[in-house]
Amino acid sequence: AVDLKFVKENLPAVRQNIADRAVAADADLVVKLYDQFVQLSISVDNLRQKRNENAKLMKSAGKMAPEQRQKCIAEGKELKSALADLEVKLAEAEQLLDVEASKIPNMTHPSVPRGSEENSALLSEYGTKQTSETAGMELKPHLELATALDMVDFENAARVSGHKFYYMRNAGALLELALVNWAMTIMAKNGFTLMTTPDVAREEVVAGCGFQPRGESSQVYRIEDSDLCLVGTAEIPLGGYHSGQILDKQQLPIKMAAFSHCFRREVGAAGSTTKGLYRVHQFSKVEMFVICHPEDSDRLHEELRLLEEEMYSSLGLHFQVLDMPTQDLGNPAYRKYDIEAWMPGRGSYGEISSASNCTDYQARRLNIRYRESQGDNRFVHTLNATACAVPRMVISILETHQQEDGSIRIPEVLRPFMGGMEEIKAD
Ligand code: AMP
Repeated sequence: AVDLKFVKENLPAVRQNIADRAVAADADLVVKLYDQFVQLSISVDNLRQKRNENAKLMKSAGKMAPEQRQKCIAEGKELKSALADLEVKLAEAEQLLDVEASKIPNMTHPSVPRGSEENSALLSEYGTKQTSETAGMELKPHLELATALDMVDFENAARVSGHKFYYMRNAGALLELALVNWAMTIMAKNGFTLMTTPDVAREEVVAGCGFQPRGESSQVYRIEDSDLCLVGTAEIPLGGYHSGQILDKQQLPIKMAAFSHCFRREVGAAGSTTKGLYRVHQFSKVEMFVICHPEDSDRLHEELRLLEEEMYSSLGLHFQVLDMPTQDLGNPAYRKYDIEAWMPGRGSYGEISSASNCTDYQARRLNIRYRESQGDNRFVHTLNATACAVPRMVISILETHQQEDGSIRIPEVLRPFMGGMEEIKAD
């Protein structure tokens, strides 16, 4: 799944990239293990050849002198056992190599800023920042607004499903579905194939997309006694959709958009003081996923970002578009644009979307290729981007469009999806 030849031939650049991204991977160890693996493979091949020659000789054993036959049989036995030993060693070496190689992150786009989150580069900004001062009224946090309007219920959900689960109610339920339908309609207009996906996927697909399905720090819920996981994002079932396939060049780019539920363990966020819908264990999301020719991925990445900008801007939100720095990319992304919306009740910016160009990182793991020409199959590039992650959209909309009496003005673009409703008001 990893291009080991590339790692070996570009060792200083791969080393530097690992350091820039502050990932726990060891390129030198990978090259060492790779060399050992190659040596062992050669030895295994040599022994196999010798064993085959010996077997051929044995076919004419009837014509041999008795002592020559005995020697040949003894040699055959020796070769067989030596080969079995070496094959075990080869399998062990391959496994070790796989484990270490899988830690190596994607390479990085040259324009990406180095360092940690605070080094992100501001690419553009939309709308104006609202505060209680500029609004001339006290801007409340979403949970207070939503509770007063009976749109959300965490209390009963805590009993039924646990903390950080919730019910959406009344206009809240309607708003969730309106956001999903609004986003799906825009996706259709922009040439995406619309999908709803399975909310579970096999571990190998989860790992193929670059997520950790196992381990203490895994964000993935696993289903006991099975090889299935709850998906954290529709990127997983969409990434798996064409896995193992060789696509026609003419089919590319394939643009898919899907609604799914997203399940996240949010390990490490347990002590977080975020209230309400900001960080929850289950949410609805419309996700974009693109499979394309390698030459087109940079251009399509910009297109996805522009589409996101258009969507959030039509909701009347104030937001910033950021080029995320090396330490914030995770392993699969070559470049990542995050959008952070101003949430005036929280009094801070919060991430509402993320658009990543994963180049061939996922394609290698999921084995998705295209036919460049007769007999020349190459890995595609994949991209993923959030169209609409419902909870943070709800937060942004409630906090941005709250009115003095506690009602919420519904953005015009959403009204057709809410039966023409213009405001959410207390009964
Ligand atoms: P990601 O797939 O992690 O890039 O997340 C995509 C988007 O989903 C983020 O930009 C957030 O808007 C939203 N999101 C991620 N995790 C959560 C969570 N635990 N609760 C609510 N929304 C989330």
